[in-house]
Amino acid sequence: AKEGGSRQHRRYSADLDDRAGEAALLGVEMRTGMDTGQFRMVYQPIVALPEGNTRYVESLVRWQHPERGFVSPAEFVPVAEQNGLIVELGEWILRTACAQFVVWRDQHGVHAPQRISVNVSARQLNEPGFAAVVAEVLECSGMPADHLIVEVTETAVFGGGTAVQAVKDLSALGVRIALDDFGTGHSSLGLLQTVPVDVLKVDKSFVDNLTMAGRHAVIATALIQVSNGLGLTAVAEGVETAEQAAELHRLGYQYAQGFHFGQPAAEPDFHRTAVAVV
Ligand code: C2E
Ligand code: CA
Ligand code: CA
Ligand code: CA
Repeated sequence: AKEGGSRQHRRYSADLDDRAGEAALLGVEMRTGMDTGQFRMVYQPIVALPEGNTRYVESLVRWQHPERGFVSPAEFVPVAEQNGLIVELGEWILRTACAQFVVWRDQHGVHAPQRISVNVSARQLNEPGFAAVVAEVLECSGMPADHLIVEVTETAVFGGGTAVQAVKDLSALGVRIALDDFGTGHSSLGLLQTVPVDVLKVDKSFVDNLTMAGRHAVIATALIQVSNGLGLTAVAEGVETAEQAAELHRLGYQYAQGFHFGQPAAEPDFHRTAVAVV
């Protein structure tokens, strides 16, 4: 057993080494990717229920690697958080999204999305002067502060550091704050008393199985009540079916996002009305 244990231990360390090596390699390749334009942005509609018109869009980063092909942000964003590259990448993301918003507003007028949301990681939020960078980007792009939504996770805000102050500074600029993946962290409700929040993005896990009577529906109902009671905007994430959309509408949700309404795309079709709730 002792021998087995140490072999087990060696294999575990080797796995750790592999993972550290892989992350280091990915970091180096990210640097190259940033310098050679391998990153781009896509935008997913956030629609109004029940009719399904696009109201907002969420910006999502994409990496097309020359050999690896498509690399998921779920894989490279955590690596970029670790090695700090997210600070530079995140600023590019913010600039690109704000510039895109202004172009759409000029091209599509009333059909353009009213707001654009940008995901901001813990590392960015804790970077000294982050709010000042946001202010500068807004100024340079001609983007009105109150049309920008910054999406942060509960974990990022509660990770300590200066994140809470950064959120307050952003809010003071007029930027809207969204709590992403809401309900999956440890102290979701307490956080609503600590930081100025405008939007609750109700996590996909509560939307899944919503139509099967049970816990999911109870929680989704409680979350919309909290949101309405505090005067916030709730967005249901990861809506994949017409049944889910109909149930969310019945529960009082006014905003939804998910493959049922539209995939993330470089140029979403703002003139098309998405599949309405039946
Ligand atoms: P997130 O912020 O929760 O983004 C939502 C994710 O759910 C996106 O995955 C989106 O494509 C996916 N999604 C949307 N609708 C549906 C649906 O109906 N069903 C399913 N199964 N998935 C749906 P994506 O783009 O792969 O991003 C994954 C995560 O990577 C994001 O989760 C976010 O945490 C991070 N991320 C993506 N883009 C950025 C970025 O620009 N900056 C930062 N800091 N993080 C980002
Ligand atoms: Ca998000
Ligand atoms: Ca989310
Ligand atoms: Ca997520």
